Amino acid sequence: RIAYVNGSYVPHDEAYVHIEDRGYQFSDGVYEVAAIKNGKLIDGARHLDRLWRSMEELQIAAPMARAPMEVVLKEVVRQNRILEGIVYIQVTRGVARRDHAFPSFTRPALVMTAKRLSYDAVYKKAQSGIKVTSVPDIRWDRCDIKSISLLPNVLAKQTAREAGSVEAVMFDKDGMITEGSSTNVWMVTKDGTLVTRSTKDNILPGITRQCVMELAEENQMKVEERAFSLLEVADAAEIFITSTTSCAMPVIQFDDTVIGDGKPGPVALRLINAYMDFMNS
Ligand code: PLP
Repeated sequence: RIAYVNGSYVPHDEAYVHIEDRGYQFSDGVYEVAAIKNGKLIDGARHLDRLWRSMEELQIAAPMARAPMEVVLKEVVRQNRILEGIVYIQVTRGVARRDHAFPSFTRPALVMTAKRLSYDAVYKKAQSGIKVTSVPDIRWDRCDIKSISLLPNVLAKQTAREAGSVEAVMFDKDGMITEGSSTNVWMVTKDGTLVTRSTKDNILPGITRQCVMELAEENQMKVEERAFSLLEVADAAEIFITSTTSCAMPVIQFDDTVIGDGKPGPVALRLINAYMDFMNS
């Protein structure tokens, strides 16, 4: 495997950043994960838009212009010979003597890696569905930024893992679901309406969320962007989660509650089919 690190393509095992990189010391950085299918980047423009927005919100200078970054991205995919997988992009504020405030002179650091992931395997998993575990959302109020500061998400996912679940679904102080530790969460009500929390409400604006919303509308499904509670989940016809790596993944068990008849529902399955078609188109 080959990694891109600050201007060089290096063997993955020999790819290092400096110990005084602010990403390492302060989690002072942002990232993106984008899918590769048939050797091509999926929704690349939206991922780069979001990366630029994350950098701007944190006043991290872009390590390079957008066009050369697209070239590097393609090169990382090519050098790793990946037809199906993901690319990871990370930008940190750079290397400087440790001081919380921004350093006056530093160059942002850019790292990119890629790895294989089978979307056929994801699709297969969707046919049986997954279990999720709810945990309180203990994050800050800038969850719209895709920051590498992920400790609450790490703890949430670990709690889920220990409960035998695939994903942690977080809820706020009012018992309203925010999002998953690395996914957006959707509910299908008994009357067939799709519900997902608004991106104005302190969650990450998922690229897959946006894409699935467009696919739902193309398929004449009704979508409502609003918060929904843990109590509503118990009464939902379907629950599913979306993300770059899980596509649209049906949830068949939410804590101790079996969702619907305990099998992936028709809406989620239609959407993952539509999403797979989109990826291949
Ligand atoms: N929410 C959080 C907290 C995430 O970390 C992610 C992805 O990593 C998502 C949602 C899904 O976003 P996307 O669909 O862009 O992968």
